[in-house]
Amino acid sequence: MNAQALVLTAPRHFERREFALPALGNSDGLLRVEACGLCGTDHEQYTGHLASRHAFIPGHEVIGTLEAVGSQAAARWGVREGERVAVEVFQSCRECDACKAGLYRRCERNGLKTMIGFVDADRPPHLCGGYATHLYLGPDAMLLPVPNSLDPVVASLFNPLGAGIRWAVEVPKTKPGDVVAILGPGIRGLCAAAAAKDAGAAFVMITGLGPRDDSRLALAPRFGVDLAVDVAKDDPVKALRQAVGRLADVVVDVTAKAPAAFAQAIGLARTGATVVIAGTRGEASTPGFHPDHIVYKELNVIGALGVDVGAYRAALTMLESGRYPFAALPRQEAGFDALEPLIKVMAGEAPGTPPVHGVFVPNAGEK
Ligand SMILES: [Zn+2]
Ligand SMILES: [Zn+2]
Repeated sequence: MNAQALVLTAPRHFERREFALPALGNSDGLLRVEACGLCGTDHEQYTGHLASRHAFIPGHEVIGTLEAVGSQAAARWGVREGERVAVEVFQSCRECDACKAGLYRRCERNGLKTMIGFVDADRPPHLCGGYATHLYLGPDAMLLPVPNSLDPVVASLFNPLGAGIRWAVEVPKTKPGDVVAILGPGIRGLCAAAAAKDAGAAFVMITGLGPRDDSRLALAPRFGVDLAVDVAKDDPVKALRQAVGRLADVVVDVTAKAPAAFAQAIGLARTGATVVIAGTRGEASTPGFHPDHIVYKELNVIGALGVDVGAYRAALTMLESGRYPFAALPRQEAGFDALEPLIKVMAGEAPGTPPVHGVFVPNAGEK
């Protein structure tokens, strides 16, 4: 049997290719891909915004079952054949100084070079991304056990929910009773809201911008949100004051390409608040932002980029708990043929509203 994969050979150009399944040894393994969540990175890779010098199989939010595992690998990863696992984007040698310090995103042997969904598809073992029937797991792969009761498509949310937990709870040290404001109602914003509420936040606000965000704002109350504000219609600072009589203890910006969101994040923060910036503007301008407010409000402004293993584990536990309706999120599952049209919609290059949760499922529509 061969593996099937979608290889991105150039921006906006997928090729469906077959690869022989790699020969395995003691220290590696093979995953049968069940689901691969899609996010902004996927459409930025597709359009070439995130450039690559080589052809690669994208897909970095991978859930699957272990089809084959070498004996050493099984011991190293703490897994067995047939088990369902989530695959972390970054790999770790587990030996260098960065890995020993838990900062395996900066692993000397791996780092950005071996991120799942970014590796040269023309070189063996080829199968290093999630848009495929199989994923090769090298010795440095990082795996997380997935509870049996969890549907693989829902489990693929371990990635955005892990981010939500880290950015809205761990980094800002959110406490019970806090007022939390989240900017951006996409999947990361909804995950951040649920994470903040789950950590005991007394009040959670979320903001969106214009008609494209309407359905997401309408969904927000089911994910722990007490107040959803369209900033195209209402002033978010006024709305928060009106609702709780004060400003936010914790502000989390998970917007994308929203230059004005930075000033709104600073505006929503109370004196002494923590502001986590995880969204990127894609440009240098920050309309309405006055740096002096950081001084006068004595704000803690923190940048956040990645997620770590603790947050991923917490995310899988929270998904399993069923406390929030992640299983019922509006989602679109796309197989090999439907994936490119879906990514075009997500990239804004084809008409239509992107689903809140887009997922590649290798056998979707091929029953
Ligand atoms: Zn992603
Ligand atoms: Zn390392």
